[in-house]
Amino acid sequence: APPSSPVAAPLAGPAPAAAAGVPMIAIDQVSKWYGDFQVLTNCTTSVVKGEVVVVCGPSGSGKSTLIKCVNALEPFQKGQITVDGTKVVDRRTNLPQLRSRVGMVFQHFELFPHLSITGNLSLAQRKVLGRGREEAEAKGMALLERVGLKAHAHKFPGQLSGGQQQRVAIARALAMNPVVMLFDEPTSALDPEMVGEVLDVMVELAREGMTMMVVTHEMGFARKVANRVIFMDRGEIVEDARKEDFFGSPRSERAQTFLSKIL
Ligand code: ADP
Ligand code: MG
Repeated sequence: APPSSPVAAPLAGPAPAAAAGVPMIAIDQVSKWYGDFQVLTNCTTSVVKGEVVVVCGPSGSGKSTLIKCVNALEPFQKGQITVDGTKVVDRRTNLPQLRSRVGMVFQHFELFPHLSITGNLSLAQRKVLGRGREEAEAKGMALLERVGLKAHAHKFPGQLSGGQQQRVAIARALAMNPVVMLFDEPTSALDPEMVGEVLDVMVELAREGMTMMVVTHEMGFARKVANRVIFMDRGEIVEDARKEDFFGSPRSERAQTFLSKIL
């Protein structure tokens, strides 16, 4: 859903397509190196409340690195990222608290194999948010119902299909009441027949107004729910456009070439 009412002015800086509204994620001139290798170069963009931004680009272009910087899973050497008003690089920032407000879903589901689905859904709620067992389990059940897996609560991850495990991973992230959700190629490790059930959950989440940054090559998903598309190549944000503009007429040759290969 598009942001309903513009509250704050959009961020200054070269983010031409940024919608007006409350910035939930602001990425400002971020550069990062692995030793001598520059993996991110001056990345600037922002995601406002309720916006869905799809990030695409060739393998190795820095997509995973950029979204890992957003919840401080990766350090960066230059620039700043602000999540819901909290600076990622600031000694006063409580990083575990910041991370608990940023839901993250990876390509590989990373559920705890030795815990039941209920246990997987409860653990961080109890350890990080201090919720009691009953409250955590009730919240977990409500979310399992939402992703269509209530009947599987007692099972272990190994007993579920890949698509089901990824839906549990999404429910587990939502259990923390995140202010934004980050997805890193959530369907690319799945068998083709399971991609749809995971995308359906993500589409519903988007339509409910969740702020989302989604690395994916599922352009059907992008067309359906994205507000903007960011195209990265060699560590740079080459294109940051409204969905209609990106698909209609990508400005850069690199994006045109990329699109012609995947569409
Ligand atoms: P993408 O998600 O777009 O495929 P990544 O963000 O995973 O790209 O990686 C971007 C580049 O950074 C790649 O060239 C990759 O090899 C390199 N890279 C990623 N992680 C590391 C690391 N821990 N150390 C060194 N280089 C890395
Ligand atoms: Mg990646």
